[in-house]
Amino acid sequence: MRIILLGPPGAGKGTQAKTLALELRLPHISTGDILRKSASLGTALGLEAKDFMNKGVLVPDELVTRMLMERIDQPDAKSGFILDGYPRTLAQAQALDEKLKERKLNIDFAVYLETSESVVIQRLGGRLVCSKCGANFHLNNMPPKKEMICDSCGGGLYQRSDDKEETISKRLQVYHSESAPLVKYYQAQNILYRLNADGEPSIVLHQIIRMAKDHHDSLKV
Ligand code: ADP
Ligand code: ZN
Repeated sequence: MRIILLGPPGAGKGTQAKTLALELRLPHISTGDILRKSASLGTALGLEAKDFMNKGVLVPDELVTRMLMERIDQPDAKSGFILDGYPRTLAQAQALDEKLKERKLNIDFAVYLETSESVVIQRLGGRLVCSKCGANFHLNNMPPKKEMICDSCGGGLYQRSDDKEETISKRLQVYHSESAPLVKYYQAQNILYRLNADGEPSIVLHQIIRMAKDHHDSLKV
């Protein structure tokens, strides 16, 4: 099954995608995670992407699409994947459709995690990320059991450099102009589900799992 998660930064795409990936036994593919990893390893791609990310603007489509397709062509993504943070522009959505078509594959559905602006700002401001496994925590909403230590792997937690106030507002601006139109794109293809994602992550997760199961069952009849 091939699923896309859409929604503003702070909608909980990463949090949902990680748990969903375990439940559905599919790889979680996050372009943000891949870019951050490349940047911390100092690869050519990472160095090129770093400046864009720190400013809160998008990395050029061509670069991200190439990187994404390399990941999608890995053997573990053969039976499907959960995409988080891609596509982020109409050009990326079209490129993805085209590349999947060449491989005789398609997207099953996209889930739009609708989130209000005040929730997004509150979530991003307090977000903490594990430096080892990428798990997300929150200073107030989802504090780790031990201060600045990851519950799942014991890695150290840090605040993302783009989770600073000025960069957050830039990212939201970019989201509205570049990524929000994707909702209409998938709606027009009749594969869009909307979910309110202001609430508890576990409730949102159950709704997505239900959708995936219903979708799977409908394919069998
Ligand atoms: P968030 O959804 O919270 O903004 P991500 O980890 O998905 O966080 O993305 C962080 C940054 O990585 C973005 O602001 C952007 O610079 C870059 N990025 C991630 N995915 C893409 C993409 N598909 N296209 C262009 N840039 C991307
Ligand atoms: Zn961890």
